Amino acid sequence: MQHSIDGNRLWARLMAMAEIGAIPENGSCRQSLSDEDEAGRTLFLKWCLSRGYKIRRDRIGNLFVRRAGSHPEAAPVLIGSHLDTQPTGGRFDGVLGVLAGLEVLETLDDRGVETTRSIELCVWTNEEGCRFQPAMMGSGVACGSLDLETALSARDISGITLAGEIARHGYDSHPVPRLDEADCYIELHIEQGPILEAAQKTIGVVTGGQGIRWYELSVLGEETHAGPVPMALRKDPVPMLTQIIQLVQAIGRINADARCTIGKICLSPGSINVVPGCADMTVDLRHPDEAGLDDMHRRLMDGLEMIRRAHGEVELQVRPIWHSPVIAFDQHLIEAVRTSASNRQLPFQRVTSGAGHDAFNLARRLPATMIFIPCRKGISHNPREYAEPYHVSAGANVLLDVVLGRAE
Ligand SMILES: [Zn+2]
Repeated sequence: MQHSIDGNRLWARLMAMAEIGAIPENGSCRQSLSDEDEAGRTLFLKWCLSRGYKIRRDRIGNLFVRRAGSHPEAAPVLIGSHLDTQPTGGRFDGVLGVLAGLEVLETLDDRGVETTRSIELCVWTNEEGCRFQPAMMGSGVACGSLDLETALSARDISGITLAGEIARHGYDSHPVPRLDEADCYIELHIEQGPILEAAQKTIGVVTGGQGIRWYELSVLGEETHAGPVPMALRKDPVPMLTQIIQLVQAIGRINADARCTIGKICLSPGSINVVPGCADMTVDLRHPDEAGLDDMHRRLMDGLEMIRRAHGEVELQVRPIWHSPVIAFDQHLIEAVRTSASNRQLPFQRVTSGAGHDAFNLARRLPATMIFIPCRKGISHNPREYAEPYHVSAGANVLLDVVLGRAE
């Protein structure tokens, strides 16, 4: 028998949560471990407590809300997302996955459905990474990919430590985060990109996350006066810089899945009448399969070597600083999402996640997947972020189906 969630209740809760830390243009500001973030969690826990769910906290501030199954020893099904937002965040990023998770638990209660496995709704601390770095912190610590002490020593821009905020909100008396044996993890999220809306699809069957490689490049020349020194005698980093920009743009066009971004360029000293002594830049390469990302990496390295040889007047330094491998979600869970969308006659398509999510940390430990719904014009991390109530309900229903299939 097919059950369905209460779309009105879920929508009302999304709107109620958005009132906490409300900012102009319908946005929300609940940066991690701020008073607003804590107030949002308090409201969420009030809803959970009224249903009698068992609540646990850990020392990094993660919350775990458990609806017990009939076999408490069976590995639980984990669902969840995050309640923190960007400083100018919207109403759906993260919040949707948490409140749709609560909606799944309540729907099972309302329909009197007993599951074999327990279902555990997780609220991960500091997914956004805007106030404290790195992002996806709570899930990273729980999954063992980030050290607890490193996380606790993070400072915000005003010098406040994460450890201090953890203590202020009373999380420091709770146990060290540790992911218990679990069956799987499923996260519903807005797409944060324009693909589903453009294709008029309701459900994104997320197959994984893009691999990412980051580089810092420096071109070192010699600062000199813009007037007296003839062009041929300069050690100007800019001619090499322009070739590097062309190279990176060309790599971004080798196929439709490739993404290349030069996000930062800095010329020093940055004066109108000085030939710069140094050009610093960053390169971000992404691709949904590792072989594709490797190919982009090789093209970048080979291209930079050719450019280096053509410009003996300046020195090129290349520093690869980060490599996050491609995340492949679990085939059975991907298939369960696809089947649910198909059974409910919801238009769907397979997508890869362009943004990072807590599910990536979980996927390194457990079978995991994500479900995406469209957001208007792909806009996110913005007060104007918006998801249609119909899409919100559809996504929560698919989450319900996949969870039930796993927990029954
Ligand atoms: Zn998010």
